[in-house]
Amino acid sequence: TNRPIKRALVSVFHKEGIEVLADAFVKAGTEVVSTGSTAKRLAELGVKVTEVSDVTGFPECLDGRVKTLHPYIHAGILADMTNPEHAKQLEGFGIKPFDLVVVNLYPFADTVRSGASEADVIEKIDIGGPSMVRGAAKNHATVAIVTDPADYALVAARVADGTGFSLEERRWLAAKAFAHTAAYDATINEWTARHWPKPASVEASGDAQETGEPVDERKFPATFTRTWDRAHTLRYGENSHQQAALYLDPLDQTGFAHAEQLGGKPMSYNNYVDADAAWRAVWDFAPAIAVAVVKHNNPCGLAIGATAAEAHKKAHACDPVSAYGGVIACNSTVTLEMAESVRPIFTEVIVAPAYEPEALELLKTKKKNLRILKVADPVKRRIQFKQIDGGLLVQDMDVIDAPGDSPDAWKLVSGEPADAATLKDLEFAWRAVRCVKSNAILLAHDQATVGIGMGQVNRVDSCHLAVERANTLADGAERAKGAVAASDAFFPFADGAETLMDAGVKAIVQPGGSIRDEEVIEAAKKAGVTMYLTGTRHFCH
Ligand code: 5GP
Repeated sequence: TNRPIKRALVSVFHKEGIEVLADAFVKAGTEVVSTGSTAKRLAELGVKVTEVSDVTGFPECLDGRVKTLHPYIHAGILADMTNPEHAKQLEGFGIKPFDLVVVNLYPFADTVRSGASEADVIEKIDIGGPSMVRGAAKNHATVAIVTDPADYALVAARVADGTGFSLEERRWLAAKAFAHTAAYDATINEWTARHWPKPASVEASGDAQETGEPVDERKFPATFTRTWDRAHTLRYGENSHQQAALYLDPLDQTGFAHAEQLGGKPMSYNNYVDADAAWRAVWDFAPAIAVAVVKHNNPCGLAIGATAAEAHKKAHACDPVSAYGGVIACNSTVTLEMAESVRPIFTEVIVAPAYEPEALELLKTKKKNLRILKVADPVKRRIQFKQIDGGLLVQDMDVIDAPGDSPDAWKLVSGEPADAATLKDLEFAWRAVRCVKSNAILLAHDQATVGIGMGQVNRVDSCHLAVERANTLADGAERAKGAVAASDAFFPFADGAETLMDAGVKAIVQPGGSIRDEEVIEAAKKAGVTMYLTGTRHFCH
């Protein structure tokens, strides 16, 4: 099944590594056909190369839009030489077949990322390249298609020793080639879908949400064809028996996943999950300075401070037991003072947009294992994906901009209106509870969490947990007393709210909307506790 490589077609945008191929072509006396600048480069390297235009008798034209798009080229790629009929036809036309096609495509994603104009982006949609790649991959029966420069050494070896590739090898190369063009097209699709939404002049089709709102097709296209490129494999997944890898969005290099690592051991799968959760917990508190400490995807402390160091101290104090081995995220520059505050605490990862040089120095030298991440741009993830078996759920990301997120929109249903400081704490608690796994109850005081009840399967347990944490973790101080509380969703019964009020919570913010709201509100009134309804909830599963 091996097919020796006598004639090759080479047309590559990226010329790196081509010397290896040239060397082998020269040694083996391979006949090479090539496009403009690739031909020039190969000739410089001593290869006897024929220009595509000499094969076709037609010049490259339209600024390179038409180079290889010609039957003299494509019949040479697509003729299945194991089929006598194809071989005969080809001979009749005087066309010679190719045994090897080496192509890499115009850099579409790079051009988008560079911020190029629309015209430049469009010009970087490769036409002839993908056509050759697809043709050669389809015709793997007799052609080897190479799209990955990482395979050049292998190609050179097969060219030089005269054996060519086996059928299994050609199939494997064809599979890689189809992945290459599929990813390329997906990236183009992603860009066009983002930039060219359905115009108002085109009537809305049946694509309305159940609410009757038209679907934003830029976010929810009829078909998702996204590409993520494998950045690297990870040591293992959530557990050591699970293989894992990190993939990156080729069009968006600013999100958390692209954070630059400035120090420490390689990131693990769980590090990524927790650091992402920590970052998500703090980024939209800006311009306030916020710090979160996260363990197992849940905050064990979150606070706003006048300085990063103060925010960290307050966040840490919420639950110093759980903070051991946690991930810390800060939404502003990590100062030397904050680094000093972090120093004695065993921490897996720290994430921030910037570090004072002395802070970085201290963390790097005194905490060698600490993974230090510098994240570029926080506010990119507007939609979220969740894989389910055989499908995908897609939703807008839950950021602080829901209708009920501003205290101006809240409805006072019990007690006195909160004074300014209490209202500030309620607003903080309401923002913070959004990143706590449901059912979530969050107690706060002085712009810091003091007790968090997360992830329970009923709300009353979350209330008990929040109170217990507030009162047992702080050296005997009863921190629930005088704190405010936020509940991520309504209280289905009065018992949860009563648990909080019995512990001395002075004000509660919650969405409302339960059929037993009246009972809950009555309990609050009886206890003389301030209660606001937001009308929106912040489930986080
Ligand atoms: P060169 O640098 O050799 O002048 O051009 C190589 C690039 O041109 C490759 O990236 C290849 O995919 C692309 N290419 C080859 N043939 C055609 C064609 O007919 N039309 C377009 N638009 N691109 C082509």
